[in-house]
Amino acid sequence: MEPFFPEGIFSGGADGNQDTPRVLISPCRYIQGKDVLDHLGRYLSILPSQRPVVLMTEGGRLRIGEKIEASLKQAGIELHIEIFRGECSYEEVERVSGAVRKSGWAADSVIAAGGGKCIDAGKCIGFRLGVPAVICPTIASTDAPCSAVSVMYTPEGVGIGPEFFPNSPAMVVVDTRLIASSPVRHFIAGMGDALATFYEARTCFNNPFGRNMIGARITLAALALAELCAKTVFEDGRKAIEAVRCGEVNSSVENIIEANTLLSGMGFESGGLSIAHAMAAGFTVIPTLHRDFLHGELVGIGLIAQLILEREWDEARKIVTFLRAVGLPTTLDQLQLNIQRDAKALMEAMTAAMKEPFANTEPFEVTPESLFSALIEADRLAEEFGNR
Ligand SMILES: [Zn+2]
Repeated sequence: MEPFFPEGIFSGGADGNQDTPRVLISPCRYIQGKDVLDHLGRYLSILPSQRPVVLMTEGGRLRIGEKIEASLKQAGIELHIEIFRGECSYEEVERVSGAVRKSGWAADSVIAAGGGKCIDAGKCIGFRLGVPAVICPTIASTDAPCSAVSVMYTPEGVGIGPEFFPNSPAMVVVDTRLIASSPVRHFIAGMGDALATFYEARTCFNNPFGRNMIGARITLAALALAELCAKTVFEDGRKAIEAVRCGEVNSSVENIIEANTLLSGMGFESGGLSIAHAMAAGFTVIPTLHRDFLHGELVGIGLIAQLILEREWDEARKIVTFLRAVGLPTTLDQLQLNIQRDAKALMEAMTAAMKEPFANTEPFEVTPESLFSALIEADRLAEEFGNR
């Protein structure tokens, strides 16, 4: 299987940079609502798919396996289940693809039902089997469902980098009752991730050299989606958390799930990433951060630092206020880090951050040292709020 690299396809023509086109990337269908998973079988008729492979973890199978099976059987669809062992590694992807081939099951789609890693693995397996991916997220903490890219890890869980696909998921089916019943920490972390989407897309849009995830320029549509994403999180975030804590699925919960999944997902892929995500990726070289914190929790702190780097102080304060209000970390202390004691590890994290391709989307030069100073400023700003 030849790997797919979108960058060369969309890069500029004779005039180089000037000719780089604006490109929007999106899943073919996005379906969101209470109990929509009960109708998955019916939705599959759009593809159409009659012989899906369903990928889920053992825990996922206990939680939603019966629901999915019942829905498919009702639509007269047979299925083949593969258990995902938890890591989105090339080894795991090859193991599952090999098992499907060996079984003789002539799959016509891969349904990935689970969290970010299961979804990312499902996209890889669909690509290898040459069939479309159908994504059913069970948590709202990840950008993974809508995008045509997977984040790959070693079998030990160390990040390797992205794998791109020529096609976006054929269908994303988001059951809001299911997602609202998953741990609230994931729901809140997804907001940290979603909030950054706008500020990162804006940076990429404003810089003529800024690019989105496939190396293309940013459409007005992507910037608008990203802006709506942040607006929705600010407006509905707190109400949605309260509702989820009471086991309710109201319009605020629906809005936040759409922001975390569709708006943030399309927003980052079509709008581009910047410092907030570079920093979050860099942080994962510190083992305790990689182990104990969710992606969106790290992105939130990266976002404060990005805005400080951009001298957007008012916005940085607005972000700190919101993150604190929803209980997301804003200080190094909350990450169990100390500037003096952990200076070396933090500097290594900032050096790792600069290796991310989207670390270079600012119109000015960014270095590990300037990132480090921005992080210290961000910490000082957040600490000030804490002392009020
Ligand atoms: Zn993200």
